[in-house]
Amino acid sequence: MGDDPMVRPRYTGLASFMRAPYRENWDEVDIGLIGVPYDGGVTNRPGARHGPREIRNQSSLIRRINQATKICPYDLCEVADLGDAWVEKPFELESALAEISAFYSRVHAMGITPLSAGGDHSVTLPILRAIAAQPDQPLGLIHFDAHCDTGDDYLGSKFHHGAPFRRAVEEGLLDPKRCIQIGIRGSLNDLDIWSFSHDSGMRVIYIEEFYELGVQGVIDEAHRVVGAGPAYVSFDVDGLDPVYAPGTGTPEVGGFSTLEAQMMLRGLTGLNLVGGDVVEVSPPFDPSGNTALVGATMMFEILCLLAETRAI
Ligand code: MN
Ligand code: MN
Repeated sequence: MGDDPMVRPRYTGLASFMRAPYRENWDEVDIGLIGVPYDGGVTNRPGARHGPREIRNQSSLIRRINQATKICPYDLCEVADLGDAWVEKPFELESALAEISAFYSRVHAMGITPLSAGGDHSVTLPILRAIAAQPDQPLGLIHFDAHCDTGDDYLGSKFHHGAPFRRAVEEGLLDPKRCIQIGIRGSLNDLDIWSFSHDSGMRVIYIEEFYELGVQGVIDEAHRVVGAGPAYVSFDVDGLDPVYAPGTGTPEVGGFSTLEAQMMLRGLTGLNLVGGDVVEVSPPFDPSGNTALVGATMMFEILCLLAETRAI
C-alpha cells in the first residue's frame, strides 16, 4: 500500500500530475505527463508559465476511474510524471521552442505518448515538431479554443501563441484537411484574421455552429474530419466559457461549458491519438484555483483517451 501514491490521502506527498509517480528513468513508460512552464509566446496577459505547478496541485483531486467511460488509464498503461520541459533561455522565443522540441524528441524516441500541461499555446508547435512523422504522415488535430491560432506575424514574431497551427501546417506537421477547431469566437480587429484556417481547408466550428450541431454533432464532425490517421488533441482552456475557466490570458465570453467539453472529449474515443495537451491555464488570474482544476480534469479526460489508444 505504501508505494502507490494513488492510495494515500490526496492531501499528502509532493504534487505530481494525477498523483502518478514522478520518474527520471523513462523505461517502460507508456504515457508521460509533462509540464511546459513557458509563456514567452503570450501576446497580452502572461502567467501560463505557472500552469504546470498549479495543475499538478489541483490534479491531486482526480481519482483513478472515469465514471462516464469506466476507463482506468492506470490499468491499461504505465503512466508517469516525467517532470517539466523547462527552458534554459526563456528570453529567446525561438530557441526556447527548440529546447522544448529537444525534450519531446527524447520522449518520442522512447515510444512514450506525451500528455502536456502548458504553458501558453506556442508550446504546442515544438511538441508537434518532435512527434509528427513529417513529411510522410502529417497529423490530424482536434483543437478546442476560442481562437484558431492560425494568425500571422505579430510584433515581429511568427511564433507567438496565436499562430502555432499555421506554422505547423507550413512545416508539414499537420494536414489541414484533417484539422478541426471547435469553439471559435470573440471580437476581432480584422474579419479575415482566421483566413488561413479557412483557406487551408481546416474545419472551423464557430461557437454558434457548436450550439446548432450540439455535442454529438460536433463529435461526428471530428470523426469525419480526422479519420483513421494519427491525430493530436490540443485543449486551450479559453475555449471554455470564462465562467468555468476565468484563469486564462485571453478569455472570451460565450463559450462551451466544462460538461460539454468533457462530453466532446469522451466522444473522441476510437481516434488514433498520439498525444495531447491542455494549455493557457494562468494561475495569476485564477485565485480560486478552479481553472487549474478544470485544466487537470480535461487532462484526465485526454489521459483516458490516450490510454485507450495505447491499449488497442
Ligand atoms: Mn490557443
Ligand atoms: Mn485561445
